[in-house]
Amino acid sequence: MDISAVSIALDIMKQNGLKYTKKREEILDYLSKENRYLSAKELQIHLKKDFPGISFDTIYRNLNDFERLELLEKIELDGEMRYRISCRSNHHHHHFICNLCGKTREIDYCPMEEIYQQLGQVEVEGHRFEIFGKCESCIS
Ligand SMILES: [Zn+2]
Ligand SMILES: [Zn+2]
Ligand SMILES: [Zn+2]
Repeated sequence: MDISAVSIALDIMKQNGLKYTKKREEILDYLSKENRYLSAKELQIHLKKDFPGISFDTIYRNLNDFERLELLEKIELDGEMRYRISCRSNHHHHHFICNLCGKTREIDYCPMEEIYQQLGQVEVEGHRFEIFGKCESCIS
């Protein structure tokens, strides 16, 4: 993830009529820099440095807008919703996700080939495949 992920996200935002704000950019920027699943709480702690009065409400509203535009991926980890900036790489891949810190790692393998063989005559419209566990730094 780099600056370009943020500028692509900002472009998509603009195209969909979401106004540019410093807050929105900061949320995307932080998600992109951290490159892991973050909770709204973690985002709030970070955003408070620049926007002391920022509310959970504002953060959730923005996260929901971003999610609607598919700029973010959302999962529940440890009983809490967490968000990560969507991958913009062209090649199809999946992720290992750390249950504790939310870090992800790309898996360059897709099991769909084998799954198709078992499914028979159905029409597949999409798939999600994620592996959960503890990353190296969280094990030790
Ligand atoms: Zn990815
Ligand atoms: Zn971890
Ligand atoms: Zn796949």
